[in-house]
Amino acid sequence: MAINIAENLQIVKEQIEASAKKAARDPKDIQLIAVTKTVDVETINEAINLGVQCIGENKVQELTEKYDHIGEKVKYHMIGHLQKNKVKYIIDKVELIHSLDSYELALEIEKRAKNIEKVVDCLLQVNVSGEESKFGVAPEEAVPLLKKISELEHLHITGLMTMAPYMEDTEDARIYFKRLKTLSEEIDKMNLTNIDMEYLSMGMSNDFEVAIEEGANLVRVGSRIFGERNY
Ligand SMILES: *Cc1c(COP(=O)(O)O)cnc(C)c1O
Repeated sequence: MAINIAENLQIVKEQIEASAKKAARDPKDIQLIAVTKTVDVETINEAINLGVQCIGENKVQELTEKYDHIGEKVKYHMIGHLQKNKVKYIIDKVELIHSLDSYELALEIEKRAKNIEKVVDCLLQVNVSGEESKFGVAPEEAVPLLKKISELEHLHITGLMTMAPYMEDTEDARIYFKRLKTLSEEIDKMNLTNIDMEYLSMGMSNDFEVAIEEGANLVRVGSRIFGERNY
């Protein structure tokens, strides 16, 4: 059966609105990142024509290829693990990097951003579940790392990102979203230079409703818009 992007997008937007209302939040404060990994350019263009403003990619090569074809009519978010040696390929293309997870990577982003006289916004990825398969720093490492990063002038931390473990019952993911929210409030109170806790990037196709109830304002949704991926 053909995938109906328009219908899927409509359903996701209605879901975002319903979850926001449930949490007494303004739906306008929640930004949808359409995750377009493995999705072809034609389909992405269709989504853009339907109002998608931000797309998320988890691989550098895919991001740059899509950028070459689609250009700047959409914003690009890097949401996947980023290797140091590939920062140079995306530094001038991304609106936000969700996956900052080490000081070494921060130094490389700083260097490349400085070269092009840009300040690059990044989220610190935190592994709140402690699952070994997940990237991100441990919650207790977040503050010491942010203190070091706060000295970098071309890298601006605007929030935190996490991936909850896949849960059959999404209620079971709530605790991880709560943990990220609590951590961001703790960091916010410290008033670190150059560190802002404006964004919480959490929630994917399976669990974005619960994430929104717990304070997410960036949700990264792929398969519920574009259908299941065949890798
Ligand atoms: C693939 C991916 C998503 C979206 O996954 P879906 O389950 O398809 O919504 C979100 N965040 C990251 C980091 C991803 O790699």
